[in-house]
Amino acid sequence: MPSVHHSSAPREASLPRIDERRLRSLFDAMPSGFALHEILLDGEGQPCDYRFIDVNPAFEAITGIARSRLVGRRVREVLPQLEPLWIERYGSVALTGDCQQFDDFSVDLDRHYRVTAYCPEIGLFAVIVDDITAIWRSEESLRQAAKVFELTRDGVAITDASARIVAVNHAFTEITGYSSEEAVGQNASILKSGHHDAVFYDTVWSELTSTGFWQGELCNRRKTGETYPQWLTITAVHDEYGQIERYIGVFTDISRLRNAEAHAEYIAYHDTLTQLPNRSLLNIRFEHALERAQRHHHKMALLIIDLDLFKNINDSLGHEFGDRLLVAVTERFKSRLRDEDTLVRVHGDEFAILMEEIEVATDAAVVARDLLQALEAPFRIGGSDEIYLSASAGISIAPDDGSDPALLLRNADTAVNLAKMQGRKTFCFYTEALTTHALERMRLESRLRRAMNLGHLLLHYQPLIEASSGAVIGAEALLRWCDPEQGMIAPIHFIPVAEDSGLIAPLGAWVLATACRQMRAWLDAGRALRTIAVNLSPRQFFLQDVPELLRQTLADSGLDARFLELEITEGILIERGERAVAILNRIRALGVRLSIDDFGTGYSSLSYLKRFTIDKLKIDRSFIRDVTTDSSDAEIAATIIAMAHSLSLSVVAEGVETAEQLAFLEEHGCDYYQGYFFSHPLAAEHFPESVENSCARRDPPRMDGTPWLTIRSAT
Ligand code: C2E
Ligand code: MG
Ligand code: MG
Repeated sequence: MPSVHHSSAPREASLPRIDERRLRSLFDAMPSGFALHEILLDGEGQPCDYRFIDVNPAFEAITGIARSRLVGRRVREVLPQLEPLWIERYGSVALTGDCQQFDDFSVDLDRHYRVTAYCPEIGLFAVIVDDITAIWRSEESLRQAAKVFELTRDGVAITDASARIVAVNHAFTEITGYSSEEAVGQNASILKSGHHDAVFYDTVWSELTSTGFWQGELCNRRKTGETYPQWLTITAVHDEYGQIERYIGVFTDISRLRNAEAHAEYIAYHDTLTQLPNRSLLNIRFEHALERAQRHHHKMALLIIDLDLFKNINDSLGHEFGDRLLVAVTERFKSRLRDEDTLVRVHGDEFAILMEEIEVATDAAVVARDLLQALEAPFRIGGSDEIYLSASAGISIAPDDGSDPALLLRNADTAVNLAKMQGRKTFCFYTEALTTHALERMRLESRLRRAMNLGHLLLHYQPLIEASSGAVIGAEALLRWCDPEQGMIAPIHFIPVAEDSGLIAPLGAWVLATACRQMRAWLDAGRALRTIAVNLSPRQFFLQDVPELLRQTLADSGLDARFLELEITEGILIERGERAVAILNRIRALGVRLSIDDFGTGYSSLSYLKRFTIDKLKIDRSFIRDVTTDSSDAEIAATIIAMAHSLSLSVVAEGVETAEQLAFLEEHGCDYYQGYFFSHPLAAEHFPESVENSCARRDPPRMDGTPWLTIRSAT
């Protein structure tokens, strides 16, 4: 096929011709070292050595031996330093004819070589030697880096520009609990603990983008969910265009360090025997508490409790016993204190209690009395005899008795000494008047407790008059304490004490139950009444679940909820805010009505009043008193009535005593009246009489000053 022949012939013809001389010069110009050997065989026909046939200049350069000294000589002769290993490898190439590659290092020359050995023809053996020192060194530095990456004890994570993890090391897995497989591909945010807010991460990112670097302490989360502090360095890696390509995060787990620090701090600020805060910590907390008290204008108290005659116990029973007793005392104290009070062991047998927020000085006296009582039961330490302890307490109040820690401590100490002088087992305030006052209140409290148990409390009922009909349509229940010695005690004298001591809870529950039962009895007797109003103390909302109490009381008494009206003061809204609104709405949902007592004296905002459904406002007595003589009071009363009506609320005027006051209120359209002009509060058995009297009169009230109802003796 001529065409085929023709087509190939010109191509071959166009190739440059390479004669032997030219080949020789190409061979000499090769950058790799080349050596051709004749294979020498031993007596058994096995390759045993190699004789140089030819080498190129590059080979001369690598071996440092001139061609003239190589050609015709045996390898073992000229390169005796060649390792037996090489001869062995050469042998296997020479035997099998397979091409093989080895890397070699010349210690003499400090260079790395790659050797390719092959058999170009039977009986011939060739090696190509390349100097790979440069490649080897750069690969070696990578190998080193990889080793460092893997072996370093710091956790390392490499992410791409969008914080997706691309590589992590072994320490990362150790610290975080995520294996490389679990971590790679995830966003670095899997490590977030949720302890830092968005602002924190924003600062980290903005610093990273502006400086390429961020370092700091961070709280992260392990796979187990446990959080831990770490010291983290993030470095941004840029590509050749200056764009961020990678982030490298290197971190150490510093939880052990933190724990050690925390432990050291704990030791520094705690008493080793009782584990209580020590005086150093007291000073710190004290300073903070004082600042807060000053800022929020509340009072705080410092109590010092000194065990009476504790030295005797140490002396007679030994210090070790004394120590165990102190631990037992600590436990009793702790069980009597609120979480927010700090109990401190000042030294030896002296304890201190920091009460950060108290309403009245008596709060501190109550705690002092409780702690002293806590010691009353005898102690037994490891089968010992019964040990009786007592203590004396001193109280200083900030800011009244001073506003720096040292002074308050000194004053509390002075007060302890006063207590000791008064025969121990008692407390004293630094200010004498406070001691007297606190003792009086405590005596009153225990009398009130007894009065409750003995049934010396009762309710009086003050008629509630409807303006349009003049009829008594209901009553307000008012608490009375009938003391066999002191006679009738007005609520103003004991309700605050009941509130402070928590007695108001059982007391309030009793009032509610009694009033509901009474109302039910009147209704059963056919009285045309619509409302029984009961006063509720704001404190009751702190102490009991009032809606639940109401539900239970109504159920027990069989009174329909619509007859019950609760009088609350604006104070509850100011003190309890949103929580009060929620509770009041629950009460309203029961069908019980709500009225705001003493309206106008508090500071409640109208917006609050709108948040829950109230039914009535009771204008405070102080405005009614001067309504005919003081134009601004008249103005206020008139405004309250108008405002209430515009909000569809009805209005009660309390403390109506004169016909003039009544005339004013009538003129302004007040809906209900209550006051001595109509009736004093009455004992339950006299109340129905007032209803009958009012029912007898259907005509509008006369303005001649004659009261409508028989006025019973004042209560
Ligand atoms: P309050 O709820 O505003 O009750 C009205 C007070 O004004 C009663 O005093 C009543 O006797 C008196 N009052 C009524 N009409 C007149 C009048 O024409 N002139 C004058 N000067 N006074 C009049 P009371 O019974 O001494 O009660 C005083 C406060 O004690 C009550 O004020 C109420 O806040 C509280 N209170 C009474 N009973 C209870 C109760 O059961 N629980 C609670 N938490 N507080 C109660
Ligand atoms: Mg009231
Ligand atoms: Mg009132």
